[in-house]
Amino acid sequence: MKPLRTLPAPGPLPEESGFLFLLVRRGLPIALALAAFMAAAMHGLGRGWWMLAGVGALAAAWPSFLRGEAFIRNRTRIMRQDSLWANAFRPMARWLGYEDLWILSFCAHNNRRVCESFGIRRARRALILLPHCIQMARCKAGILDDLQSCYDCGLCPVGDYVTAALLNRWEGRISNRSHKAYREAREYRPDLIVAVSCTDRLLKGLTKLPEIPSYVIPLVLPHGMCVDTDFSVPHLMAAMETLVEPRRPGGEIQPLRKEGIA
Ligand code: SF4
Repeated sequence: MKPLRTLPAPGPLPEESGFLFLLVRRGLPIALALAAFMAAAMHGLGRGWWMLAGVGALAAAWPSFLRGEAFIRNRTRIMRQDSLWANAFRPMARWLGYEDLWILSFCAHNNRRVCESFGIRRARRALILLPHCIQMARCKAGILDDLQSCYDCGLCPVGDYVTAALLNRWEGRISNRSHKAYREAREYRPDLIVAVSCTDRLLKGLTKLPEIPSYVIPLVLPHGMCVDTDFSVPHLMAAMETLVEPRRPGGEIQPLRKEGIA
């Protein structure tokens, strides 16, 4: 039987800031609040309404400042509001030709807050969600039914992922439908999701599952959408090592199949 191979150490998680998203998400309401307070100072008529508008705008900006425990406690409300902003400005970003940049910035802002929250007190029950399109299109291995049917031939990232998942006893799902992935996530009730997908599905996932903190990793699409996509397994490993409590290795880990490829 072929033993599991050792994977190279993943290195640190990349630094992410989400500056563009934060500039709009926080900057716009603060600018509106300042404008409302200035209007209140300059116009006696309707001063109360201007003040009310200013306070409302500050209240809209306030969730963007919450970090760590405060973020985890209020995550559903925060993620609902952030998703609203991300989705509301998406058509404009598309029109300007920066749709992916906008969504990735939203994801980076989310990842940064998740890292701040789980970097110290790590998650105990994490779930990895991966899209089926990372499997090479002509591969016949039935990984949707049984991940270990992968032959680890090295032609797509599934082999590295399965090796890492077996070595570290990670819980993960590969799914060909978003709604199946959301349902499985809700059923498993993780305290953290680490999800890999295209930008469109990452935004959708963060919007649909605001109650579960999620660290998201974008796919690389060298052949276009949904075909032979790729992602950084070391990035996934770094996220799991940094944000999730390690699980003790067990003795029943099964090696991958030795022969036969796509
Ligand atoms: S057998 Fe090869 S091509 Fe098929 S899923 Fe595994 S690593 Fe990918």
